[in-house]
Amino acid sequence: MNTTELQLIDAHCHTNFSAYRNDLEDVIQRAANDRIGLVVVGSQSSTSQRAVECAERYDNVWAVVGLHPLHLFEQEVDESEEEGGELVHFRSRAEIFDPNYYNSLIDQSSKTVGIGECGLDYYHVPVNVDPLIFRAKQEELFRLQIDLAFERGLALMIHTRNAADGSTDVHGEVLRILNDHRVAGRLPRGDVHCFSGTIAEAESYLDLGLYLSFTGNVTYKPRKVSPNTEETLHDVVRAIPIERLIIETDAPYLTPVPHRGEKNEPAFVRLVANKIAEIKNLDLDEVYSQTLKNTQNLFRI
Ligand SMILES: [Zn+2]
Ligand SMILES: [Zn+2]
Repeated sequence: MNTTELQLIDAHCHTNFSAYRNDLEDVIQRAANDRIGLVVVGSQSSTSQRAVECAERYDNVWAVVGLHPLHLFEQEVDESEEEGGELVHFRSRAEIFDPNYYNSLIDQSSKTVGIGECGLDYYHVPVNVDPLIFRAKQEELFRLQIDLAFERGLALMIHTRNAADGSTDVHGEVLRILNDHRVAGRLPRGDVHCFSGTIAEAESYLDLGLYLSFTGNVTYKPRKVSPNTEETLHDVVRAIPIERLIIETDAPYLTPVPHRGEKNEPAFVRLVANKIAEIKNLDLDEVYSQTLKNTQNLFRI
């Protein structure tokens, strides 16, 4: 497929995960038939390698490689997806970030277009690890990947997640770190994926030149984005200019309405785009073409 024929790009999905062990071919074909491209995102060394293999194999696929903060420590993870869908349970292995390894994945394919997903995750806290050490290690890992993205001229794919009880300020911390890199003149272009912060936090990211992307959770009943605000996710979507907004599925997680309970897949990104158009009261064509343009600009594809 010629990439000029693409109508939409799912800017963040995980068809490299074992959830697609048996239907990867079909899932990618369904997206291609619907003129949808995929940015497949790694979470550790093995899934990053698979993302690159996938990009090399299919015209409509690109890869992002990196180490998710979840994989810094060995821990049991119950990913209940917050709002339904099947329960995902896995044991994460402790990995260290080896820049040589990720540099080799970049060198292997011109379709490696970003670094991540990386960032801060205060939701999954391993037992038996001091919370301060846990956070300091995550920050160190995040900074290494910001540097790698900057040095290689690639996009940074940022992951953020607050503690379940809302007691942490993950956006404040991520913004502090990004701002340090900006001051040092070493901030790459990037995207805060699955954004669910406040309008003020969104504006701070936009001031840093970053994009904000939204998943199928925009199709759910709108909830307050933080205990300290009345703003819902829909209010936040309305406040962000379409020129700075990107769409994604985060498949296999966060399946949009009306497919809740099924495994998510990149072809469903159209439902995210349609909902964004409805929330922002824009023409579908405008949302499709502008988010496509934003994603191509972010990843230089
Ligand atoms: Zn994420
Ligand atoms: Zn993800």
